[in-house]
Amino acid sequence: MSSSILDKIRLAENLPSLPTVAVQVLQLTHGDGASVAEIARVIEHDPALTSKILKVANSSLFGMPRQISSLQQAVVILGLRTVKVMALTFSLVEASQGKEPGGFDYQMYWRHSLTCTVAARLLAQHLPGCQADELFVAALLCDIGTLAAFHANKDAYREVLAESQTAAVPVHVVEHQHFGATHETFSSLLLDTWGLPERMVKAIAVHHREPDELLKITQASGNTLVPILGAAVLIADLFCSAGGASQLPIVRAHVPKLVPITDQQLQDLLSVLQQEVEEMAATWSIDIGAARSYKEIQAEAVVQLAKLTMAAELERAQLAVREKELHHENQNLAQKATTDGLTGIANRIAFEEHLARSCGERNGPESPVGLLLLDIDRFKRLNDTFGHQTGDSALRLVGQHLKGLNGERRLAARYGGEEFAVVVTDASADELRRLAESIRLGIQQLRIPFQQRQLSVTVSIGVALLGAHAADATPADLIARADKCLYEAKETGRNRAIFHEPPTAGPPGRSGAAGKPQPALVHTH
Ligand code: GH3
Ligand code: MG
Ligand code: MG
Repeated sequence: MSSSILDKIRLAENLPSLPTVAVQVLQLTHGDGASVAEIARVIEHDPALTSKILKVANSSLFGMPRQISSLQQAVVILGLRTVKVMALTFSLVEASQGKEPGGFDYQMYWRHSLTCTVAARLLAQHLPGCQADELFVAALLCDIGTLAAFHANKDAYREVLAESQTAAVPVHVVEHQHFGATHETFSSLLLDTWGLPERMVKAIAVHHREPDELLKITQASGNTLVPILGAAVLIADLFCSAGGASQLPIVRAHVPKLVPITDQQLQDLLSVLQQEVEEMAATWSIDIGAARSYKEIQAEAVVQLAKLTMAAELERAQLAVREKELHHENQNLAQKATTDGLTGIANRIAFEEHLARSCGERNGPESPVGLLLLDIDRFKRLNDTFGHQTGDSALRLVGQHLKGLNGERRLAARYGGEEFAVVVTDASADELRRLAESIRLGIQQLRIPFQQRQLSVTVSIGVALLGAHAADATPADLIARADKCLYEAKETGRNRAIFHEPPTAGPPGRSGAAGKPQPALVHTH
């Protein structure tokens, strides 16, 4: 915490220079010794001050049943400390009017202080047992720390005010960042120095806290000034800070937590506030600039709500677009991760996943899974003779040809190098055999352009089927069996499909492994 600013505030040496009368009142009331008569005598030296104090004493703020005509009477009725605060406040008002360019906005300061004071008085009607004079002083002076801080260090405080305005952050938040303390502390320190009661000092020290915290403090201390002042400050902020109208829902939610007041009572209170504030400013001859009415604030709140709703809508729409883009990006990524770059068909990962899924979902012999493993014959020779690019063209053509077979029950994939795989679900042995043969012939008929020539390739195919009596067989078993057949196809001359059909179903109760493999069905060119 910046001790120099606190020291200066404690000494109150930097408040706008106080007239002699105020200084004398302060000195007199500091101890308990001063008599009412003595104080009245000092104040009476300043006729303007005297008439103002009498006006206030007779205003609706104190609701006196009869006219108060003498200063002594006013001091007795209002209490010593109220008179003292008034003397001080009026002196401050004298010294602090208008608006310094780029500096402290006194109009705003007094508008806020008076709004807070009137709001506190109106709220107190809903929370009996709160001393009117204490509340009056606490509400009127709760922000005096801002004035003191400004006069203690004008440059530093100007920065705080400017930052609060440009960043639309409450002053007390920026104060804390700059000084390590807020005007809650500044104000309470000053009031403590002036010898005002602890209840007021304590309430002022927490007036910007959250409602829940204020309630806790109230419960622990029994200090009813705390919730009323907190609620009054919320209302003053609503009426006085730029863009404050957006706080209306917060005021309506928080104030009834602090003070037992219905929403309708609160609305009524807010409706009469401006007029009372203006009356008070007129009585005290304080320039508070243009006070805003509750109607204006309500209208502004509606506009702000509409803007917020529109902004939220816009954000939602932008979010939806972004989600769509992300979805597409994800789809693209997923597509890339499962697609072979050269041929554009499924890659090894996608093949393995599909095969595992197909085998996993299989429910017995009724839904067999078939696999064709294809290997281009003498592919190395094609590469070596016509170049790697021609080899790539051949791979692409074969891939695209196989992709044409893709359907609900078939998936073609590049298994690796010049090897391909086709998974077929719900296929009969016959269907597999026919498919292998038609693939073999189809690939043979593909034409691979090389300069003026048309080249062709052949494939060897190994076929396997997980059918009846193979309930425990895994994808790896299927691949191994197809691979074995492929090897056999290569060994026996290439350009052929080899398929050892699985054993047929035996009588019930017999193990599937008991069946005897059928002889290989070989289709050659
Ligand atoms: P076989 O009939 O026994 O299968 O003989 P092969 O020549 O086809 O088999 P081998 O395994 O000896 O050669 C395969 C060749 O495939 C070697 C490798 O350079 C080539 N190859 C693998 N991937 C690609 C590729 O993406 N593009 C090209 N152009 N060639 C590839
Ligand atoms: Mg090979
Ligand atoms: Mg090969």
